[in-house]
Amino acid sequence: MSAELPFLPFALPEIGEEEIAEVVDTLRSGWVTTGPKAKRFEQAFAEFLNQYGDGQIECIAVNSATAGLHLALEALGIGPGDEVITTTHTFTATAEVARYLGADVVLVDVDPNTLNIKIDEIEAAITPRTKAIIPVHYAGLAADMLAILDIARKHGLKVVEDAAHALPTTLEKELIGTLGSNATVFSFYANKTMTTGEGGMLVTRDAELAQRARVMRLHGINRDAFDRFTAKKPSWYYEIVAPGFKYNLTDIAAALGLHQLKRLPAFQARREQIARAYHEAFAGLPLILPPCAPDGDVHSWHLYVLRLADDAGITRDEFIERMYAQGIGCSVHYVPLHQHPYWRERYGLKAERFPHSQKVYETTVSIPLYTAMSDADVARVIAAVRQALG
Ligand SMILES: *Cc1c(COP(=O)(O)O)cnc(C)c1O
Repeated sequence: MSAELPFLPFALPEIGEEEIAEVVDTLRSGWVTTGPKAKRFEQAFAEFLNQYGDGQIECIAVNSATAGLHLALEALGIGPGDEVITTTHTFTATAEVARYLGADVVLVDVDPNTLNIKIDEIEAAITPRTKAIIPVHYAGLAADMLAILDIARKHGLKVVEDAAHALPTTLEKELIGTLGSNATVFSFYANKTMTTGEGGMLVTRDAELAQRARVMRLHGINRDAFDRFTAKKPSWYYEIVAPGFKYNLTDIAAALGLHQLKRLPAFQARREQIARAYHEAFAGLPLILPPCAPDGDVHSWHLYVLRLADDAGITRDEFIERMYAQGIGCSVHYVPLHQHPYWRERYGLKAERFPHSQKVYETTVSIPLYTAMSDADVARVIAAVRQALG
């Protein structure tokens, strides 16, 4: 390995000339906050989902997935005294939104193969206070939504999908975002499968939920309330119907999103190609490779998560150090929530309660996988992994 090679970061966005031109057009237009482009982005996103769905899907553009998750739970009436079940093996945003609303979070372990929420643990965690389940499609592999929706129906629970990793991901050929949950939230954060810098999309078939989320997205402003009583409304008039939030997506961000969305199929194909190259190259090494989607389904490959086998003869931290020494950035997804001081102390959590997540955490490493990588970059990562394992 040459020391001359530049550092290969763990993640990089791919922003093309079309995105740049669209942003410049927005800047010159005089309309930089939420406006015509945010609306077009919502429409384009709905069209994308409705190729698979039934034409009933509504999209609400927001300035982060965290905001979208918060709005979804708020619209579903989640509040103090309620419990929300989610996976410990996720980013804190998945769970923190329930705390914003005064609800409690019940963390459960993951399936040791998929690293998605463990189905029998969900059932075991249900109490009379349980109101909702938030599954995460970890790394871009669909969670077992059929089982989760079954449990929800049986116990009268709401389901909000954290699909921050899952664009585009399918389950039994249905796109995530079009299944039967109450709402699904995508992220356009810088390292996600498409980006607007910061941004997210709340997606739902529930017209009432959509209406509430639109109002709460922008300060609780309702312009329709006035329409009901007056034929003619002056453009300056609005009514505040709730203490809402400031979660709207700017047109600058939406300008990026319009073009990133068009490139999504090509982005997914490139990610798939890199994942396959890794799978082939790593077969036979002391590694547990990430599971692929079942035949006929799509894995978004937001993350490529390796696990060191027991006979790897090296710790995860040593492995990452050796990768860095070769100029390759890595990451860990995730330090599980039960390990973080806030969650651990708030709920008195012990690692023994989450044996699969804990074991994964100790042995797992995410290696670079993004569309801006060249074939030479991919080859370099493969060589570095071999070298790091000795
Ligand atoms: C990135 C991410 C989020 C938060 O997305 P933002 O758009 O940054 O708010 C939530 N959940 C998971 C699992 C994520 O990876």
